[in-house]
Amino acid sequence: MNITRYVWCFSHGALHTFREGDTPWCTATWIAFTATTKAEALAAKHAAYGDAQFLHDLPADKQIEVIEIAEARTGQL
Ligand SMILES: [Zn+2]
Repeated sequence: MNITRYVWCFSHGALHTFREGDTPWCTATWIAFTATTKAEALAAKHAAYGDAQFLHDLPADKQIEVIEIAEARTGQL
C-alpha cells in the first residue's frame, strides 16, 4: 500500500507529503489532513487556517492549537 499523507508544515510554510508507514522526514510543526490529493489537502488547509503560511501568520489561539497538535504527535512517537 502506498498511501500518501498530506500535511501542512507551519515551520517550513509548505505542503509536505509523507508515505504512510514511513517516519515523517520533517519533525517540525505540521498538521495532517485527511485528503487523497494535493488539491484536497490545500483546500482543507485553507478551510481550517486560511492563507496562513507560517506559524506567525496565524492568530494566537490558532498558533497554540497547531503547536499542541504537533506536540501531541511528537509525544506519541
Ligand atoms: Zn516541515
